[in-house]
Amino acid sequence: MVKAIVGANWGDEGKGKITDMCADSADIVVRFQGGANAGHTIINQYGRFALHLLPSGIFHSHIINVIGNGVAFDVNALKNEMSEVNAAGVKFNLAISNRAQLLLQHHILLDTYEEERLADRKFGSTKSGIAPFYSDKYAKTGIQVRELYDRAQLKDKLKAMYEKINIQFKYLYHKPEIDYLEVFETLNDYAEFIRPYVTDTSKLLRDAVKEGKNILLEGQLGTLKDTDHGIYPYVTSSSTLAGYAAVGAGIPPYEIKDIIAVTKAYSSAVGEGPFVSEITDEEEAEELRRRGGDKGEYGAKTGRPRRVGYFDTVATRYGCALQGATEVCMTCLDVLSYLETIKVCTGYELDGTVYTDFLTTSDLYKAKPVCTELKGWNCDIRGIDSYDKLPAEAKAYVDFIEKEIGVHISMVSNGPKREEILYR
Ligand code: GDP
Repeated sequence: MVKAIVGANWGDEGKGKITDMCADSADIVVRFQGGANAGHTIINQYGRFALHLLPSGIFHSHIINVIGNGVAFDVNALKNEMSEVNAAGVKFNLAISNRAQLLLQHHILLDTYEEERLADRKFGSTKSGIAPFYSDKYAKTGIQVRELYDRAQLKDKLKAMYEKINIQFKYLYHKPEIDYLEVFETLNDYAEFIRPYVTDTSKLLRDAVKEGKNILLEGQLGTLKDTDHGIYPYVTSSSTLAGYAAVGAGIPPYEIKDIIAVTKAYSSAVGEGPFVSEITDEEEAEELRRRGGDKGEYGAKTGRPRRVGYFDTVATRYGCALQGATEVCMTCLDVLSYLETIKVCTGYELDGTVYTDFLTTSDLYKAKPVCTELKGWNCDIRGIDSYDKLPAEAKAYVDFIEKEIGVHISMVSNGPKREEILYR
């Protein structure tokens, strides 16, 4: 059985916790897109970890963790992450696709230089090299993992590649050029480091599907950051949709039977771009930001404050629809416990008309939120171990959102720990 866990919103919905939790019954956990630019926070018996590239199944020794072909594969980031989790005593199985492409130092530099050049027109990139990486991939000038093992060909390719890159570095950004021979040496080290893990992961997964194994596809970010369907251009450079998992992992699309879209009980977003339900009152926003997640709403990768807002049923209905969600998990319900009343955004007003379907970026910028106010439960709900025991107002909040988004909310999370989950 193949299951995908994906984000219904702007990312940071708490997918890491849900994947880690669902991993108990999985044989394989797969990363199929994105790179080390975002992070999943996982809290378990080994400690608190912000995973960027490693799949969330690494804490279960029986699981094979796959870095699929669709990933922006930063070997350096992987090395750092592996030493962190190894230091905590975690032993794990890893398989790296021989078709995954390498995210290189020049991608990170290009990302950084370009944001500098754009100045106040910047995208709010995490500067992890993701956009330049995918540009190279689709321009067919990237390097696949398997190419590391043909040294002569690799050397020739790098020479030609850096001729072009250095023109940009020198004349556009006025920065030092890159010596391709140094890159070549680094890549040779990378090749040896990852050699034990490299394999045809698509074949591994297709065989596992035939054997009836449980496979978990782990999405990064969320629908609204999808290159095509998100708030372009304030999106990421790979598809964040469950549908893309078939491509980024190399399995038949019809095998993905269960799609769990994760959404938070309120909204949060990082980076630039329109955010209709954003809380504009700084004091009100700061209070939610401080109480959000397990350590406040600050980026797992960058530590920068996240923008926060009211739950947005328009964006989430759209987010779930594009994911093809078969069920929804709502996280961080406990965070809202301090409120006497809770606002929910249920429409976008634009030029006197209220829209309940998601809009394109330019219209989103002009839209104003239309909100409904619900009664809060105003008491601590952490430690409650069954959905039925939640206060009536908390259940009414979940019911209201479920009705609005049109997909069954099968799980509600009332704390960051693995066991803090209520099934409906
Ligand atoms: P991901 O990228 O979707 O995995 O999300 P992040 O890990 O970046 O952000 C989610 C944050 O919320 C993390 O700090 C989690 O530890 C935390 N979290 C997840 N579920 C819950 C929950 O139910 N309640 C609280 N308070 N925090 C949660």
